[in-house]
Amino acid sequence: MPPGRVWRKETPEEIVADGTEGGYAAGPVAALRRIAFLLERAREDTFKVKAFRSAAATVLPMPAADLAAHVEAGTLTDLPGIGKSSARVITEAWHGRMPERLARLEREQAGPLAPGGADLLARIRGDLHSHSDWSDGGSPIEEMAFTAIELGRDYLVLTDHSPRLKVARGLSAERLARQLDVVDAVNTHLDGSFRLLKGIEVDILDDGSLDQTDAMLARLDVRVASVHSKLAMESPAMTRRMVTAVRNPRTNVLGHCTGRLVTGNRGTRNQSQFDPRAVFEACAENDVAVEINSRPERRDPPTKLLELARDTGCLFSIDSDAHAPGQLDFLAYGAERAEAAGIDPDRIVNTWPADRLLAWANR
Ligand SMILES: [Zn+2]
Ligand SMILES: [Zn+2]
Repeated sequence: MPPGRVWRKETPEEIVADGTEGGYAAGPVAALRRIAFLLERAREDTFKVKAFRSAAATVLPMPAADLAAHVEAGTLTDLPGIGKSSARVITEAWHGRMPERLARLEREQAGPLAPGGADLLARIRGDLHSHSDWSDGGSPIEEMAFTAIELGRDYLVLTDHSPRLKVARGLSAERLARQLDVVDAVNTHLDGSFRLLKGIEVDILDDGSLDQTDAMLARLDVRVASVHSKLAMESPAMTRRMVTAVRNPRTNVLGHCTGRLVTGNRGTRNQSQFDPRAVFEACAENDVAVEINSRPERRDPPTKLLELARDTGCLFSIDSDAHAPGQLDFLAYGAERAEAAGIDPDRIVNTWPADRLLAWANR
């Protein structure tokens, strides 16, 4: 059962069609989650989004009678995590009315994110790069999984950061081991048609080694390796560093290869310097996918390099690099770029079914 459905009202006369005649039947939690999803997808300030996510977390476990009492008494804002605007949404949804805030977002923000790439997007079955609140993401693991299910995905690889990336609360081997138990627990609560897969975005250290124990890397389903430090290294050293990481038999995906930032509130950053031909040839030889990072502020690799990787015979992975559930929809941006570059969908590993993906990643 999708999580948005848990608050459906029970009496038949209260069940009205979603969004028609101003009616809304999915209930307060679904309304709050949908608002948060659309705000994240539109790259809104996390502070704004958090208000709706924490309100949903407060309402979800509440007995129906308690919530009804607070709605009737107008005391929702006395509850932890519920501010004025979430209280309004809860009240409207509780009464079976389409919340005004949600109606506006559906009107203004729910359309396709990118004008192109729709055919390719429809062939994408999963996502190989995502973060939860265990590292620098904003939502719990299960919320990321539920949203991926709602988006029709067959699988999602959870790839929180590795220990060296302290600013992002990178996971030690011990925390990663605990996370793997949580992933197992989430999967046992699902019906098997969707799989949350075990992964990591592992830092490529200065010498090209990977920032996690080999024993832990061996326990994962998919490993994305990325450079996050010393991006301004001289080209020969950076090339050696990246080629060494790509040749590591544990590496499956080379994450955001240039590290550039083209827009957004983190400012801009030039692409790092390396010999792209040498790096992409190593990817092709070692069956490592070049990531097409879909985040609008990254658009990595740049188009010229994307075309070079295409001509070098590389595999690709179109990744959202989502740090919030709504950002899982970013795949539309990567699909548009891959389609424009004329990349054969069968060379994009996340158009593959999970079993084929897992066989490739653990060959
Ligand atoms: Zn990264
Ligand atoms: Zn990432």
